[in-house]
Amino acid sequence: FAQAPANVSFIAPTADNPIRINFNENALGMSPSAQAAARDAVAKGNRYAKAEITQLHGKLCDMYKVPKNFLLLTDGSSEGIRALMGAYSRLPKVQLVIPELTYGDGEHFANLYNVPVVKVPMLADWKVDVAGLKKAVDGFDGFSIVYFVNPNNPTSTVTPASEIEPWVKSKPDNTLFIADEAYAEYVSDPKFKSMAGLIQDGLDNVVLLKTFSKLYAMAGMRVGFAVGAPSIIKMMKDQVAGEKLNYPGVTAALVSLDDEPFQAYSRASNLESRKILASCLDKLGVKYLPSSTNFMFFELNEPIRAFQKKMATRNIIVGRPFPPAMNWCRISLGTPQEMAYVANELTKMRSEGVF
Ligand code: PLP
Repeated sequence: FAQAPANVSFIAPTADNPIRINFNENALGMSPSAQAAARDAVAKGNRYAKAEITQLHGKLCDMYKVPKNFLLLTDGSSEGIRALMGAYSRLPKVQLVIPELTYGDGEHFANLYNVPVVKVPMLADWKVDVAGLKKAVDGFDGFSIVYFVNPNNPTSTVTPASEIEPWVKSKPDNTLFIADEAYAEYVSDPKFKSMAGLIQDGLDNVVLLKTFSKLYAMAGMRVGFAVGAPSIIKMMKDQVAGEKLNYPGVTAALVSLDDEPFQAYSRASNLESRKILASCLDKLGVKYLPSSTNFMFFELNEPIRAFQKKMATRNIIVGRPFPPAMNWCRISLGTPQEMAYVANELTKMRSEGVF
């Protein structure tokens, strides 16, 4: 890859500089072209990024084939989740319905806005129970928000479109579906389908949340966006301070969308890292779920807290506990060199009888 950023050369981890594979960040660093654009933007930091924000908004509308009032730029996708909870919490009777094991921001912001949360237990192998979610919605006489992360975090798995689309298309009364597709760029499973198509088809009961934090390696730049019917976007807009994103973030996002070689590199590197970890776990006979993301979820023979500590002493920071999967670990896929190092450590730990 001609585009390989300069900052990916491998240095063995130390206590001060551990391998950080706990937040599903992209270890490659931003694309060199995006870094250059962000640096240039710092010099313009005394100005509002108005023209560039309009440009990014327009570019994303073109990509998603929607009119301008179908999209809102947000300060990362978590700002989109917050805005939705803020907006819908104002309805007279509302609940949030989530799978028990999913990304935490839905529940976090629901708690903040006093929206009761209904958690639907998972099926075998931490599969999302779509019928269970539906039951929770059907049995409620107020408004339901269904927060649906696909592929899911921390499980890394895809819920087939065939399981979720018919429900969304049936337009159940008083229901909003939030489709959080933060990791969709990594998916190759044909059973996955973005909900964007339903929004393009005119459905006004579903909103898509996207982020530049993952494939584009821009987690610290805070750029995300929401796509949905104007009625939903308007409600979100009333919860944020306008599309006033930071200058470096906006310019880096604009450049990243055009940097197809980096996108290909980012995908290929992730795939390579996934193969390295999967092959290690296979060799060690460790059970893991099929990953469609930039992280993997595997089973431990002890509580995650104990394993987390052992890894930390080896200068490797892995994911936190995700109840109720207390004997499972989420490892974000770092660079292939980092994953080779981690695989080697896991193999050593196995031979020492501590993993
Ligand atoms: N949604 C999911 C499913 C995530 O895993 C994350 C972060 O890990 C986010 C949203 C928030 O990302 P950001 O606010 O950086 O866009």
